[in-house]
Parts: sequence; structure tokens; C-alpha cells
Amino acid sequence: NQSLGEFDPEVAAALDAELDRQQSTLEMIASENFAPVASLQAQGSVLTNKYAEGYPGKRYYGGCEFVDVVENIAIDRLKALFGASYANVQPHSGATANAAAMHALISAGDTILGLDLAHGGHLTHGMRINFSGKLYNVVPYHVRAADHVLDMDEVRSLALEHKPSMIIAGWSAYPRQIDFAAFREIADEAGSRLMVDMAHFAGLVAAGLHPSPLPYADVVTTTTHKTLGGPRGGALLTNDDEVAKKLRSAVFPGQQGGPLEHVIAAKAVAFKMAAQDDFKERQQRTIDGAKLLAERLTGDDMRKVGVTVLTGGTDVHLVLVDLRKSELNGQQAEDRLHEIGITVNRNAVPFDPRPPMVTSGLRIGTPALATRGFGAEEFTEVADIIAEALHPDLADTSRLRARVDALTAKFPLYPDVPRFAS
Ligand code: PLP
Repeated sequence: NQSLGEFDPEVAAALDAELDRQQSTLEMIASENFAPVASLQAQGSVLTNKYAEGYPGKRYYGGCEFVDVVENIAIDRLKALFGASYANVQPHSGATANAAAMHALISAGDTILGLDLAHGGHLTHGMRINFSGKLYNVVPYHVRAADHVLDMDEVRSLALEHKPSMIIAGWSAYPRQIDFAAFREIADEAGSRLMVDMAHFAGLVAAGLHPSPLPYADVVTTTTHKTLGGPRGGALLTNDDEVAKKLRSAVFPGQQGGPLEHVIAAKAVAFKMAAQDDFKERQQRTIDGAKLLAERLTGDDMRKVGVTVLTGGTDVHLVLVDLRKSELNGQQAEDRLHEIGITVNRNAVPFDPRPPMVTSGLRIGTPALATRGFGAEEFTEVADIIAEALHPDLADTSRLRARVDALTAKFPLYPDVPRFAS
């Protein structure tokens, strides 16, 4: 019964160092966020000890009376949040949620249509060595070269030509809203199932600041840790009873054994949080912050040094910086921002001339900083710091680091989360 700090000082020290890192830097990886303390507590609970194969009321293990309560709360909250008649909160991650949805609705060897990874799609939407690329015959669709917006004409012609069993709409790196009605129409014309992967923008949907895919998709998949702001995990939603039955058995026993009930408890807490007014206000600050950043990075001074943003702006929580004409490549830009305390990820832009480990782009997101409390004033300052950092001739980074430090000090993160090392 020793504490972590007593029993395992090595692990404790690394956890403390990670807390320090999160507190002292500006987290702008678009897929990350800060889970609320209440979620951290639920996830660190004794529910980690419990086997609960099956679903509430129909388990294959005894002693499930309390995890049933927790899982039912999570399910009911998620259904209410997105207006769905069925929710499955058991997928361990976004990738396994997608795998379950595909196993449920299509068969190995079938054709799927997904956004090309190099154009903003996710690994699970058909990348060659992912399960999705190995099990299914993948036909990728793209953004248009002229404006980097989804080419719905191409989606339609590919769908009519290949008659895919499933069309996947959704993205990991794309700064605009998707036209779900257009995808539905194409899916109907081609006789395809429509899966929408809203992992990135689920929080915006929950807040009513992005159209919901629920009325259009056969199945909606999501993660719970990106804009939604909860623990790492996945979930599935549908309004179709037949699809619901298939999803239920595709997750268990089709794909998973025991659900992570401690994570499900943390999801339940996050879904409660996402239904509150201040969550909506936070998502609005998230989008407004991304818009401020896009505006700053499309200024004349940036154009002169070859920096701009894809599609000229954003409707969501992220900005895709286009460095194809800049002296700095994605790797150098990521490193420079890291040096001043801003964490982002380099990201290939569509039609990227540089190799994938280097890239000509950055993906910069605002959800974590909005959770930290940032508003227009702070996002304006962050945008200015990033703009200055992306000037190729920047000599002195210490001034920018000091401005980052001032911002982290203004909004302390997890001030009451205890350290483990004694
Ligand atoms: N779907 C999309 C669109 C994503 O961007 C991601 C993760 O980045 C996933 C699914 C996979 O989520 P996870 O990392 O939880 O497996």
C-alpha cells in the first residue's frame, strides 16, 4: 500500500515532469486538451480493477452492479449530448471505434472511400499499412489543388465509379466544416453506408457550433479526448436500430474483451461537463482563437516570408500553416516553436514537395489553451508570438520565450493536482 512516490520514484518523477511540462508550455497540438480534474480522479479510481465483459444488465462477470451504474450514466449523457438513440462508450480509442464501425457494417475485401492521409484523413480511413488499408480496398478522395477544400465532385464521381460499401467523412487535419448532406446524397446514390468520424470536432458539435452528422450518417464515431475534452477514448453513435445492434456486437464480443470502466467513468464526467453552458462558451473561444491565429498568419508580413494558412482561414479549432514557400520547413518551424515553449506538430500539406518526416506545414490547434482559459486577448498575443517565431531571420528566441512564460503564469494549469514524488 505504498504510494506511487514511495514505491516507484522513477515513474513518479516522470509523471511530475510531465505535469511541469504541461503547466509551463503552451499546448497547441490540435488533437490534445486538458481533461478536468474530476475526470482524472475517475480514471485513477478502483474501477480499473473490475472486469465487466458485456453491457450493463448483461454482463459475463459478477459484481458489476456499480460499473453498470457508471456505464449507464455515460451512455445516457452521450446520447443526450448528441441527440442519438444509441451510444456505445466502450471503444478504447478512436481507432478501435472506427475498426468496430467498419467491422459492424462492411466485410473484408469491400471498397471504402476515405480522405487521403496526405490530404488530412486519418490512418484508419484507409492508410496502406493500417488495418483499414489491409482489410479493405481503399479509394482515396482529395482536396482541390486550387483552394485545398474537399473536392465533392471527385467524391461523387469516385463513389459512382467504385460503388464503395462505405464512405468515410471526417478528418485529422482540415480547417473547414464538412457538408454532411452532400455526403449523404452521394452515399445514397452509390448505395454506400456513410460513416462520419467526428473525433476532431465533436466538442464543437456538442456545443452547437458545428453541424451535427447524426441526422445524416449511418454511424458516427468519435474520440473523447480532443475538442470534447475528456479522457483518451472512443465512442460510437447512431440513430438506426439495426446499425445499433451491429455496433453492439462488433465492439463486444467482436473486437474487445473487458471495457475500461475507469475510463468510462471519466468519460461520463466529461460528458456532464460538455452539456454545460461554460463548455459552449469555451468552444466558442476555441474557434475564435483559431480564427485570430489564421488572420494573423495571413497578414502581409507573413506573405513576404512565404507563410500562409490553407484555405485562407478556419471554421474550426485548428489552423493549417502552409510553409511551402517559406525558407523554414515543418520540422524547423516545429523545433523553433518548441524552443520558445509552444507545442505543435508538423504536418504534411496536400501536394507537399518536402518529405513526410520534414513536411511543409504545421497543424496548430486552440482547444487546450481555451480550456486553460485563454480568450481573445491571449490568443492575439499567442498569434503574434507564433508569427514572429515563423520569421526565418529570427535571431533571439529568449524574448518570445518570456512572452510565453507570461501567458502560462497568467493561467495556471491544474494548480491543485498533487505531485507524486515525495
Ligand atoms: N479519427 C480521427 C479523425 C483522428 O484524428 C484520430 C486521432 O488522431 C483518431 C480517429 C484515432 O484516435 P485514437 O488516437 O484515440 O485511436
